[in-house]
Amino acid sequence: MIEDKDQQRTSLSELGEFGLIEHLTKDFEPHRTSTIKGIGDDAAILDFKDKNTVVTNDLLVEGVHFDLAYMPLKHLGYKAVMVNLSDVYAMNATATQITVSIAVSNRFPLEALEELYAGIALACNMYDVDLIGGDTTSSGKGLLISVTAIGEANSEDIVYRNGAKANDLLVVTGDVGGAYMGLQILEREKEVFKVNPNNQPDLSMYSYIIERQLKPEARKDIPALLRELGVKPTAMIDISDGLSSEILHLCKQSEVGCNLYEDKIPLDPQVISTCEEFDINSTMVALSGGEDYELLFTISQEDYPKIKGNPHLSVIGHMTPESEGMHLVSRANTKIPLKARGWNALREE
Ligand code: ADP
Ligand code: MG
Repeated sequence: MIEDKDQQRTSLSELGEFGLIEHLTKDFEPHRTSTIKGIGDDAAILDFKDKNTVVTNDLLVEGVHFDLAYMPLKHLGYKAVMVNLSDVYAMNATATQITVSIAVSNRFPLEALEELYAGIALACNMYDVDLIGGDTTSSGKGLLISVTAIGEANSEDIVYRNGAKANDLLVVTGDVGGAYMGLQILEREKEVFKVNPNNQPDLSMYSYIIERQLKPEARKDIPALLRELGVKPTAMIDISDGLSSEILHLCKQSEVGCNLYEDKIPLDPQVISTCEEFDINSTMVALSGGEDYELLFTISQEDYPKIKGNPHLSVIGHMTPESEGMHLVSRANTKIPLKARGWNALREE
């Protein structure tokens, strides 16, 4: 049918709204036992039996949250799902279903939306969630994509932001700062491309950080790992805005303070070398970068032996009484107040 996807441009008006919905969603078969009815009626029907239901939504707007100059639509579809699943996992819950709503301008051909839905389909398959509905409408300009993720958890397993206690350990999964540095590379290449469209840059030395920006993975494995280790965090949040802002959320809502140790923050070697290249402080990037979609949680000190040495988990600090405030303890062992924007915190030094 379509020989070369890049050349074919089928106008959305050729299909009409219902033809478009049917075309984009026809291959999405529900697999979850909790999905009683998926796409095709006025509403989907779910049954979580005696479990609690977790619901979260994120809206992504072209020009604000993504730039199609370097964000392939397939990656955008995948990332839009990841951003939402990450919030479900941050409740220590299992993600089970998503809905996807899109508003598209007539600048987009059908083939573009097929790419977007290929990314959504890949995410659904990899993360075992059902696409159960959504909405489709036109926009005057640009693309908007809104995803709702639904999940389930036993009420006693759910972890909120407000349960951290003084002396709890602060733990982060994976490594941080990569997504932000990947974005710096993509922004730089976009400028180079504007000047010389024939330039074919070799970005292989940045592959990890570019992937962190374009194809982030939500930490589905962490709630499962914690269960296996017999650890229930006292508080948890996902890292969408950077370490310092998320730590402040945990501290404020739990009414505790914290000491974060600069030398404990996990950084990939590519983040360190790219920070050197851009002459940016890698701690700043970890604190303020964002979009890493790792999980940040607190555990009771008693649980430390259970997580000790785990390659996915780094202890980066500990909580304190609220009156002690929130601090970054630098490599030079000075205490710097932690602010929502880590940049400012270090500039004041
Ligand atoms: P309604 O008139 O009730 O809004 P629609 O015709 O918009 O119904 O949708 C028909 C079905 O297709 C519904 O099950 C809806 O959830 C689903 N749907 C609509 N748009 C999308 C989309 N972009 N992605 C996934 N499912 C969609
Ligand atoms: Mg509709």
